[in-house]
Amino acid sequence: MSRDSGPAPDLGRVGHDLEVISTYRDPDLLGWTRRVFSPIDMAARAWVGEQMAAAGLTVETDAGGNLIGRLRGTEGRRAALVTGSHTDTVHGGGRFDGIIGVLGAIEVVRMLTESGRELRHDLVVVDFLGEEPNDFGLSCVGSRAIVGALGPEHLDLVDPGGRRLRDLLAEAGGDPENLAAACWPQGALRCFVELHIEQGPRLERAGASIGVVSGIVGIHRFLSTFTGRPDHAGTTPMGERRDALLGAAEAALRIEDLATGGVATAGRLDVRPGAHNVVPAEADLWAEVRSDDTGWLGSFGRDVEVSVNEIGSRRSLATSLSWVSREDPVLATSWVRDTVARAAVECGFEPVVLPSGAGHDAAHMARLGPMGMIFVPSRDGRSHCPEEWTDLVQIGDGISVLAETLLACDTLDEAGTDGAADNGARPCLRVGSGSRQRGESGTVG
Ligand SMILES: [Zn+2]
Repeated sequence: MSRDSGPAPDLGRVGHDLEVISTYRDPDLLGWTRRVFSPIDMAARAWVGEQMAAAGLTVETDAGGNLIGRLRGTEGRRAALVTGSHTDTVHGGGRFDGIIGVLGAIEVVRMLTESGRELRHDLVVVDFLGEEPNDFGLSCVGSRAIVGALGPEHLDLVDPGGRRLRDLLAEAGGDPENLAAACWPQGALRCFVELHIEQGPRLERAGASIGVVSGIVGIHRFLSTFTGRPDHAGTTPMGERRDALLGAAEAALRIEDLATGGVATAGRLDVRPGAHNVVPAEADLWAEVRSDDTGWLGSFGRDVEVSVNEIGSRRSLATSLSWVSREDPVLATSWVRDTVARAAVECGFEPVVLPSGAGHDAAHMARLGPMGMIFVPSRDGRSHCPEEWTDLVQIGDGISVLAETLLACDTLDEAGTDGAADNGARPCLRVGSGSRQRGESGTVG
């Protein structure tokens, strides 16, 4: 098999890179904190740019502040194969979220060049600016810019320190006055494939090394207000109260019951007047629901509206419910998803298909063209915390599948069918370590 002939990712090199970027952390904050626009994030991105260049990529920072490295293909006019992720972290975050998708992509470039393998398409590696939510209340700054979804209304946002996003973007090497230059034209993207840690427990529990992402969940957020009557807590009989907090509490429990096709969380409850000795008169319940099933999200919404009404009328409370935001699921493109799954099998794995419960740059990039994601396990499902961990070998497995996926996407014809599949000539860079595979239900291949 051709896959026997190619090099594996150099785990010593990848491990070294992970060690080095981990030193770019805010020493005054918990974990491996590297917030977007901080001096430490900018220093880390400069180092990433140096690694891109050393791997043979032509590197630029675009108007959206994205660090972009390009490896020319043999047929330069073709739409690019694009991969990458982000290197900023949340406050108190870990060492792997986003980071392995950037360092892994650079390792794929090294594997290609060292093996003398040329691609027909350009290969573009992106370290997206500021994927994590920032002090402006915005996430995915860089990928929004690339798809044309970063506008003046965002640039004029002011953070709690009085700084404007416009100014920080310029400091990060972007060009806020010429943001349109960051926007990629339709047709520029052959496909986007992002390697990322799962950030949840499913792969580890399935004993699987590789996850094929079916899609990125939609998130619907709402605010429900319950209005009763403030009364004396000592003199008002139990049967005569209009307690807004109890209505909201019942609604929170109902939300838990209704979460059959996804996850739902009542994350905040504001109660007024908020005193020991007054029956609560008003309660605001903030909640969200996530699922990769658009239809189920719709039915959850209808059910929760009916439930809030029913609880209110039974408890003599006035109620309202308003949808704060409704982001629908973004499905992986079927041919990219299938290519990732085949690549995983080629590398010796039994991949598990699963949705992403977290948002990613890939959800924005999907507006430009075909998109897919590869997950590797997170120990104990932990993420956005210092305990976040993925073994180096597992990261190497993900890099192998990313390389194989990009090679396969390079040889597929423009309709997404595999012109090389039947003759067995499709190259593979690595023999996967199939002995680690214990795929269970939900596997493909
Ligand atoms: Zn991430």
